Amino acid sequence: MAKKESSGKALSERLCYKKTNYFESATEIEKREIFAYAEGYKAFLDAAKTEREACETAVKLAREAGFTEYRFGDKLSSGDKRYFVNRGKSVVVFRVGTEDIEEDGMRIIASHIDAPRIDIKQNPLYEDAGMAFLKTHYYGGIKKYQWTAIPLALHGVVVLKDGKKVSFAIGEEDSDPVFYINDLLPHLGADQMAGKAGKIIEGEQLNVVVGGMPYADEDVSDRIKLTVLSVLHEKYGMCEEDFLSAELSAVPAFKARDIGLDRAFIGAYGHDDRVCAYPALTAVLEAESRHTVLAMLVDKEEIGSEGTTGIQCKVYEDLMEEISLALGANFRKVRSRSKCLSSDVTAAYDPNFAGVYEKMNSAMLSCGTAMCKFTGSRGKSGSNDANAEFVGEVRKAFAENGVVWQTAELGKVDVGGGGTVAKFVANLNIDTVDLGVPVISMHAPWELISKADLYSNYRAFLAFMK
Ligand code: MN
Ligand code: MN
Repeated sequence: MAKKESSGKALSERLCYKKTNYFESATEIEKREIFAYAEGYKAFLDAAKTEREACETAVKLAREAGFTEYRFGDKLSSGDKRYFVNRGKSVVVFRVGTEDIEEDGMRIIASHIDAPRIDIKQNPLYEDAGMAFLKTHYYGGIKKYQWTAIPLALHGVVVLKDGKKVSFAIGEEDSDPVFYINDLLPHLGADQMAGKAGKIIEGEQLNVVVGGMPYADEDVSDRIKLTVLSVLHEKYGMCEEDFLSAELSAVPAFKARDIGLDRAFIGAYGHDDRVCAYPALTAVLEAESRHTVLAMLVDKEEIGSEGTTGIQCKVYEDLMEEISLALGANFRKVRSRSKCLSSDVTAAYDPNFAGVYEKMNSAMLSCGTAMCKFTGSRGKSGSNDANAEFVGEVRKAFAENGVVWQTAELGKVDVGGGGTVAKFVANLNIDTVDLGVPVISMHAPWELISKADLYSNYRAFLAFMK
């Protein structure tokens, strides 16, 4: 038993679990890949600020990669590359593999492309004190005070009286105007600042400034409102009544940018969950697989996965059943053998707010994409809680393919919690586990992620599909 000290070190290295910082372990070639991949992701972020735009951009990338549109009833065969669009707000991109789908099932990566934002109400336009405003109703879980005093862009669609659909995206070009939500000056903010943070800006105060010039005719009332309407009419053929059948949102007008002198991080609106949707999409577009693989980019996750475009809608189950039928397979067998990565973001450990995290089980920035065996709150309520067997299988695939990854739990027990689409996919009798990128300032107008984690997520999807 000589050299006891060094054998202890060797033993520790063999027996103890340690997270790896991916920037540290990456080869020079891998580092270049990490940075190159981030450029494509930033372009996707800037083109896709709403679920409609993300869907459109995904379809464009899919078509460029030789994928064609699939409709229910279409024939399918091995090697087919297809995409299925649901109401312009969600898209499933898939490849038919060479394995017998009835024995092998499908490999599904489920992500979402909606993000918290400020939706415009159906009767929104008014003027007061030299300003025209749009009234709003926020979408998803936001800290309302974060959305004041920043440049906002208006995105969405308006269905005109005659049924014609007009698309909006104002505030993204440098020459475009932007929009604004007022906040109170600190000089008069003593009472406001003494209040609870959730109340310092109330929902009905999130009114968006859209104009300020009175229409040049003193005989009418609400002349600033009329100026705004005249511009909308000129540019989009819109009348005030057309807001009734519109879906407009105010989103941050910021572009995705590198953060840090070493450019390790990316700041952007809507990393949650495009930082998973983009890798899911590119993995399926780029990599052939013996399995039948699906990248699902769905809507409405931020408000409970409801509606015709949320993952609880039967359309996705129908699609899987149609694919099975088209390949002559029994859907019940197919889904029982399918596997899913529910790919959504998690909270990155933040030393500035250490108190809410349990450090050992939190995701660390740059230590790779993070697997959450369970989400939910309190006693794992509302959680999918994946089987150890399935976790073990995924872990093995990651190890065999050199994926740097970690596990994560969203904060300390009983501090809060959250859910993802995992439990809805699992309801279909599909083994599912959560895997996604750790985010700093999740749901803020501008969130931060690590380029290393983004690339790790992509690598993890490739390993899962192999
Ligand atoms: Mn999410
Ligand atoms: Mn979210």
